[in-house]
Amino acid sequence: MNYNEMTVKFKAISANESFARVCIAAFLSEYNPTIDEIGDIKTAISEAVTNCVVHAYPKGVIGDVEMYVQVNNGEVYISITDNGVGIEDIEQAKQPFYTTKPNSERSGMGFTVMEGFMDTLAIMSTPNKGVKVEMTKKLGEDSKVSFGG
Ligand code: ATP
Ligand code: MG
Repeated sequence: MNYNEMTVKFKAISANESFARVCIAAFLSEYNPTIDEIGDIKTAISEAVTNCVVHAYPKGVIGDVEMYVQVNNGEVYISITDNGVGIEDIEQAKQPFYTTKPNSERSGMGFTVMEGFMDTLAIMSTPNKGVKVEMTKKLGEDSKVSFGG
């Protein structure tokens, strides 16, 4: 059966950005991703987890990040969820170069990178309840590129 899933939950601290990358790479290694595919997924995961670290819990107690990964017949579905401050205007947040932290080396490109490196991106949020980012990517598409014809 080509179906598998996992959930990990960790604190929204920057030490866990690399943990999340390594974790998803290890989980997906079973499904023979190409180097490019795994690189793309790790990059997208990094951006999503970094957003939880940088934006979700601006004051008070640092909350959790939940990473859920599902593989179904070569299609990878990932959700990254936090319980932080949320995003009021999602369309605005998705715009390239839009950032609410221009003075702290943020370039406002996180969502643009996720969109570019994955097949689909969806962002859901309730202000003061948190953000859920859903992404999908089909593995094996690289080898299906046809030349000519
Ligand atoms: P960069 O990712 O280039 O370092 P950035 O994080 O500001 O900069 P995006 O990742 O595109 O850019 O996010 C855009 C904006 O959306 C952020 O500036 C922030 O206001 C908001 N945002 C993103 N993720 C979250 C989150 N998990 N919780 C609350 N706000 C968020
Ligand atoms: Mg970001």
